[in-house]
Amino acid sequence: MQSGTDFDAVVVGAGFAGIYALYRLRELGLSVQGLEAAEDVGGTWYWNRYPGARCDVESLSYSYSFSRELESEWLWTERYASQAEILRYLQHVVARFQLRPLIRFDTRLAEATLEASGARWQLRTTAGDLLTARFLVMATGCLSEPRLPAIPGLEEFRGKLYQTSRWPHEPVDFTGQRVAVIGTGSSGIQCIPRIASQAQHLTVFQRTPNFSVPAHNAPLDPLARQAVMDSYPQFRRTLRESATSLMADEPLPAAMELSAQEREQRYRAAWEEGGIRLLFCVSDTVVSKPANDTLAAFVRERIKDIVKDPAVAERLLPRDYPLGTKRLCVDTDYFATYNRPNVTLVDLRSTPLVRATPHGLSTSGADFPVDSIVFATGFDAMTGALLAIDIRGRGGRRLADEWSEGPRAYLGLAAAGFPNLFMITGPGSPSVLSNMVISIEQHVDFIADLVAAMRTRGAQSVEAQAAAQEAWVAHVAEAASQTLFPQANSWYMGANIPGKPRVFLPYVGGVGPYRQKCQAVAAAGYEGFEVR
Ligand code: FAD
Ligand code: NAP
Repeated sequence: MQSGTDFDAVVVGAGFAGIYALYRLRELGLSVQGLEAAEDVGGTWYWNRYPGARCDVESLSYSYSFSRELESEWLWTERYASQAEILRYLQHVVARFQLRPLIRFDTRLAEATLEASGARWQLRTTAGDLLTARFLVMATGCLSEPRLPAIPGLEEFRGKLYQTSRWPHEPVDFTGQRVAVIGTGSSGIQCIPRIASQAQHLTVFQRTPNFSVPAHNAPLDPLARQAVMDSYPQFRRTLRESATSLMADEPLPAAMELSAQEREQRYRAAWEEGGIRLLFCVSDTVVSKPANDTLAAFVRERIKDIVKDPAVAERLLPRDYPLGTKRLCVDTDYFATYNRPNVTLVDLRSTPLVRATPHGLSTSGADFPVDSIVFATGFDAMTGALLAIDIRGRGGRRLADEWSEGPRAYLGLAAAGFPNLFMITGPGSPSVLSNMVISIEQHVDFIADLVAAMRTRGAQSVEAQAAAQEAWVAHVAEAASQTLFPQANSWYMGANIPGKPRVFLPYVGGVGPYRQKCQAVAAAGYEGFEVR
């Protein structure tokens, strides 16, 4: 660990974002300190160790592109990397670039206060340690602040409690147990088949059925992998410049321009290929309700094909929001799991969860004795980890107050009144709608280039201008309003957290266009920023 308490930059978080930020800022010659609440690096891939945890962006694109040597020496083994493999990868990156000595583990930032000079931050950890930094880089994650529902009586439950996002490091053996899983988002959908194959009985408590597509995960064919790796720079460039950052842009037909038969063929091909490509096999899934309806109906038919009991299938059919407006899930044998004799699906819409008892869970319809309860109930997304820190900017303004009606950030990167503070994949940037490693690298590069430009100019502080911020926030909202996203009670809309403002949090205008906007801002001398 480094000594000293005053740094050019402090980076909070040591997941994909924090690791790369440490690397880039150190390359600039800055004194830099990382703070990480966990006892090791990895972020998402450190915390979410539940059975079945896996990436749903293909491993050849869900990895750093900043080092050609790193790219060529790391061999991904599967189409979609497992949590364990991604964690090993991040540990390798940290070792390879000697970043570990820069990080203070088991250290949570509690408070950040701007000094009167307006150009340095005073930082206090939960242990009471004090540090100062000119630049404060929030790499605290979009999906890192877990959320547990308040269930009356839970403290009386005598069995074991688990949370997907805080999974124990040693394997959990559910053999012979009666297990409950609450939640059927991406995390629930990944762990349910794995727990079902082990437990004596699994009861799934579902509030909202989800759309899910088969992953068709498989070992990576070494020849196919080599073909991509031979052309990695081009492959990466194509993804960075594309709208989705998941696949190359290609001209796509609008769903309703196709005949019913052509649509069916297209949807079926995407379903067979597997993964979130299904969302992007026609041009208008998230903007046209009639188009969306055709794809949603197609997926409902697939669920009915897989699930043998028609009554169970009916309960699994998502009907009250457009496909893709809650994060599309990617699964391995999720729907087929409901054909197992040891699995029960409880529909909390018709029989709500009432309380926990010492021996299990009770709904308005029945009691369910269980030995273990697994919470797969999600996160306070995008703003949760930031607002968990008491951040006070110019004139003592609290970020939490500034954002009481929804986050306000210029480009999702910086907030007016909070100079020298940057957010990586903050609200108002493509972030969670993208391949996040691509968005992370783009933000870190933007920040590092800005810091380098400031040094050249002899500047001490940089701050988003209020007018530029308001224009960007309005643009983010306008872009969302042209889509179907606001129609769902999703975490994208803050709807999963009681009292959270209902605002569409990420920027839906496309990863490539967003990158161009950031490049134009930089080329114009950091337009919209006050550089002092
Ligand atoms: P994180 O990995 O969340 O790291 C943030 C770190 O900051 C954490 O380690 C946390 O402990 C630390 N931290 C937070 N607050 C503080 C504080 N106050 N003080 C100190 N430390 C703090 N994205 C994709 O693109 N594709 C996927 O397939 C995909 N799968 C996912 C699967 C799961 C289970 C989850 C939860 C998310 C997934 N994501 C996926 C999103 C994923 O979060 C990002 O891809 C990426 O890992 C985020 O990296 P990060 O460094 O920005 O944040
Ligand atoms: P999530 O999508 O928010 O799902 C949480 C689930 O818990 C939902 O089904 C929700 O129901 C349910 N729930 C919440 N509170 C409840 C309550 N009080 N009673 C009953 N049910 C309740 O969270 P997540 O599954 O952890 O996923 C979050 C995000 O992380 C994903 O969208 C994705 O971006 C990322 N992720 C990706 C992968 C991957 O495949 N690569 C895996 C895991 C996570 P409602 O829908 O009714 O609110």
